[in-house]
Amino acid sequence: MPVYRYEATDPAKKSCARCANGFEIMQKLADAKLTACPDCGASVMRVIAAPALAHSKTDLHYRAKRAGFHTLKRVGKGEYEKMY
Ligand SMILES: [Zn+2]
Repeated sequence: MPVYRYEATDPAKKSCARCANGFEIMQKLADAKLTACPDCGASVMRVIAAPALAHSKTDLHYRAKRAGFHTLKRVGKGEYEKMY
């Protein structure tokens, strides 16, 4: 089962220890996306999941991507997301 990462959409407004910094949860592909934190009910958004060991690297990629840089090479259809 894939692991998905969620983060509070507005941690400053409403969040708990679990979602303020993001959390990961295992879901079946068929499961609906979470829209609220299971603990506090704050609205959450799904972000691309990352293996626990690659967090710092992933955060770097994520920040770079958000800043408009393309640090990842698309190696094929569907392969792009797996690199996060
Ligand atoms: Zn929460």
